[in-house]
Amino acid sequence: MRFLSLLISILVAVVSVVIYRDQVIDLATASIDRITKQLNALKDIVALNFGTGDIASSSTTTTATPSSPYYNPSEQLVATEMSVPRAIRKVFLAVEQSEGAGARVRRSIGTPQLRNFSPFLMLDHFSIKPGAGFPDHPHRGQETITYLLTGAVDHEDFAGNAGTIEAGDLQFMTAGRGIMHAEMPRQNPDGSANVGLQLWVDLPTDLKKCEPRYRDLRAKEIPQVDINDKVHVKVISGQSGGVDSVKDLAYTPVWILDIEIKPGGKLAQPVPVGWNAFSYQLEGSAIFGSGDAKHTVQQYHNCVFEAEGDVVNIEVPENATENARFVLIAGQILDQKVVQYGPFVLNTPEEVRQALFDYQFQTNGFERAKDWASEIGKSMVH
Ligand code: MN
Repeated sequence: MRFLSLLISILVAVVSVVIYRDQVIDLATASIDRITKQLNALKDIVALNFGTGDIASSSTTTTATPSSPYYNPSEQLVATEMSVPRAIRKVFLAVEQSEGAGARVRRSIGTPQLRNFSPFLMLDHFSIKPGAGFPDHPHRGQETITYLLTGAVDHEDFAGNAGTIEAGDLQFMTAGRGIMHAEMPRQNPDGSANVGLQLWVDLPTDLKKCEPRYRDLRAKEIPQVDINDKVHVKVISGQSGGVDSVKDLAYTPVWILDIEIKPGGKLAQPVPVGWNAFSYQLEGSAIFGSGDAKHTVQQYHNCVFEAEGDVVNIEVPENATENARFVLIAGQILDQKVVQYGPFVLNTPEEVRQALFDYQFQTNGFERAKDWASEIGKSMVH
């Protein structure tokens, strides 16, 4: 008897949901307007971590998504006589902009200068003074890779992960189905800024619902290689000079090389065929390209390569007054649509609306956001 009444209750519930589906959706839509307003307010504080606030859509069609959850380099890539140099699509300055109190950001990817560059969504070169930071905020559907150049940044999330990355360290954060976290730069006693790069990478569709995860990569774990007496490479992810990086860093296949070239130095760096690739100039300047199509790339400039070719040529003139230092980054192009609203990166507008709903009502991956507040973010909550 009890079982029968339970069965009837379930039936009534199911039928109600079917009948009142439209009303339920209306309710959700009304809530989304409210959430959108809240997000816009929050955006001012955590602009760096929200990227653009517009729902942006793009589409690419090339290689299939990877089958393995981890990307690990396998074959050795070597520059030879037969190598095809990558041509340069464009070079542009990452203009410095203010992002909330005390934060300066040079954004290159994710601006009108460079969008639809799968798998990359955003690249920020940030400089954050003590007192500023990015308190509790959500993500879904992407990976963020943070490379700290000077200073330190604390992090804490709703799954209980907490820690600090220091100069030379990286953090690979996979948002998957949902994460709430805070990223707070250290209060340096001398008031100096915390400087680094944050790269947003799209997740393959079949991994957008995965559990969130963190992987800190310490500076001392990163293999380094002297290609010759003038070229030094930190192999963060991928491969250079026959040296492989640490494995199991990002789900989306990405190469990240931190390269320093002294005056008179030259490098022919292989990059995986068919992947998108770019460089970002941290210090000094370098000449990219080959033959008649060479470009001098100055500090704070992003150099975007064409997808054809398997090697990037770089040189620094003998008479240069300083070393060149840049990151060379490549990623496998994902054959999927990108629909982004701030920190939510999905494939359709419906999935973005669902993300806003799940964030607001703490469901489908955001359950742990209920009553959670980070310790480190409290200094910024007024
Ligand atoms: Mn974040």
